[in-house]
Amino acid sequence: METLYLKGTDRDLDRAAAIIKGGGLVAFPTETVYGLGADALNANAVAKIYEAKGRPADNPTIVTIADVSDLETLTPEVTEDMKKLAEAFWPGPMTMVVPAAPIIPAITIAGLKTAGIRMPDNALTRELIRRSKPLAGPSANRSKRPSPTTAQHVLEDMDGRIDAVLDGGTCRVGIESTIIDLSGDVPMILRPGMIIRSQFEEVLGKKVLLDPTLNRDPSEAANDTSDFHPKAPGMKYKHYAPKAPMLLFEGPYEKVLAEIDVVRKAHEEKGERVYVISFEPDEAERAAHDIYGLLREADASGADLILATALPQEGAGFSVMNRMLKSASFHVIRV
Ligand code: AMP
Ligand code: MG
Repeated sequence: METLYLKGTDRDLDRAAAIIKGGGLVAFPTETVYGLGADALNANAVAKIYEAKGRPADNPTIVTIADVSDLETLTPEVTEDMKKLAEAFWPGPMTMVVPAAPIIPAITIAGLKTAGIRMPDNALTRELIRRSKPLAGPSANRSKRPSPTTAQHVLEDMDGRIDAVLDGGTCRVGIESTIIDLSGDVPMILRPGMIIRSQFEEVLGKKVLLDPTLNRDPSEAANDTSDFHPKAPGMKYKHYAPKAPMLLFEGPYEKVLAEIDVVRKAHEEKGERVYVISFEPDEAERAAHDIYGLLREADASGADLILATALPQEGAGFSVMNRMLKSASFHVIRV
């Protein structure tokens, strides 16, 4: 199929809406990463998302909405906690996991009893949804690849596999939304993002947990007695992987830079191409914004090896490291 490139004019939005209503796939911009959208309530359309991404069937999509009123149709009861979080963080990089209403097809939520719902901070995409339907929308990359933060990235992975891409420019945040589960007794963060635990605790006025498996190496976790079952099914899969192997360097910043230099030179002397990614310790926001683009650039440059600085694992740094640790298959060198 030919993938239409749409810019977001009134006519483009009508075309994109017609594709969604006809059961097709449109990649859409958000402030986090690009999503791959299908009518969330049409099981046949959602099946095409899994096909196009090469996504395992047990990994649910996120349902993307345009207005808070859409939430009422997707969950049986809008609770006080849901209202507080929607008020504080929507539109924005937060996904709430809530009990799923029966109208949501099983395939959209991978057979779960809950649904992840998000209202993105992007006017084009919300207008597309108003003209069509809430969108089932996982990230618009091929499974395992770094998430796309430009329309160009989407086309690298999806050209010829989807009906259209709606270009909304470069994503402002750059990593995926924080997922917070409100379906249990205590709210729990299932995937860290740029909205962090203390912000949720402040708004909800109560304790919020972090899924204890986050940022832990699953191969090490397999050796201890506790279970390793991330609560967001997608978090267990290989993710965000560049083609070249990647090493993370952790320790005092100046020493880390010096060590990266030594390792770089040693590999270059063997004739290898080395791609270096470096963020200062207080640059979590820039790191989030740039990381996926840099990983794709490393691949495009034909790198044999990627060397990168680790970020301190607190606040937003924890969230960016959640992705970088996976990109590096948990290869961390302590300097
Ligand atoms: P992606 O858009 O590729 O980041 O994928 C969406 C992420 O949301 C995956 O990691 C899913 O496992 C997670 N997710 C979506 N719905 C739910 C849900 N109902 N419960 C837990 N995690 C979810
Ligand atoms: Mg994804």
